[in-house]
Order: sequence, then C-alpha cells, then structure tokens
Amino acid sequence: MVKIADGIRTFRCPSCDEYINDSMDSCKFCNTALDNANLSSLVEKQDNLNSAFNAANNLQIMAITAIIPMVLTLLPFIGIFALFGYLALIVILPVKLILWKTKFSNIVTDDKDYKTAKSFWRNALIIWAVLLMILIVNLAFRMI
Ligand SMILES: [Zn+2]
Repeated sequence: MVKIADGIRTFRCPSCDEYINDSMDSCKFCNTALDNANLSSLVEKQDNLNSAFNAANNLQIMAITAIIPMVLTLLPFIGIFALFGYLALIVILPVKLILWKTKFSNIVTDDKDYKTAKSFWRNALIIWAVLLMILIVNLAFRMI
C-alpha cells in the first residue's frame, strides 16, 4: 500500500506503473512528464483506490471479528450478551458491504490492490453468509 507523508502524495505512473509522487516534474523511472492537471486526477484516483482497499480490508477484519461473539454465544451467562453483539454485526456487515459496492465498484483499474480489495470484500460476504446460517441454527435451537 501507499504511504502518504508530509503532504507528498503517491500514485502510480500512468506510463510505467511504478509508484511516484506529486513532488516530481517527471517520472523518475521512465521520464514521462507529469503536468499538474493530469497529476491531480492521478492522485485523486490513487486516493480513491486506497480508500477502497482500506474499507474492504476493514470489512474482512469485521467479518472475522464477528466469529468471536459467535463462539461466545455457546457459553452460559455471557452467551446472551454475545448474542446481541453477534446480531449487531450480522445486521451491520451487509449494510457496509452494500455501501462499499455503491462507493467503489465503479473503479476502473488493473491495479492489483483493487483485485485484492475485491477479494477482501468477497471473503467478508462469505464469512457473513456462514455466520448468518449459524445464527439461524443457533436461534432455532434456543427456541426448541
Ligand atoms: Zn513512469
């Protein structure tokens, strides 16, 4: 991922795909000239891509984290509290998954970070679906 430090913003060179930054007049790898108008759109595109990556990464972490209250629901006493946490995550996750899609699914790039972001999103969806099925079984057993 790209680190942004001291106001210098990093993005990929449009011609050679190496990471460069907006303090340069030309790419240090391929010498392609960088004009200001072009630069700001490239920086903006990179920022959007970084946001997509971070948001998808957070979704995957959130989905994995939801496994913890799911396991805790099996315990006596704290089980009922864990169930509320579990329910909340089961409700919030798909909302966040849809929001990610509406915000970032229109990105056109062959950047591998975007492919990784999409696989994070898919993983989060799969984990959510499994957790939802386990929740339904769990609730069914509580009602018996
Ligand atoms: Zn270049």
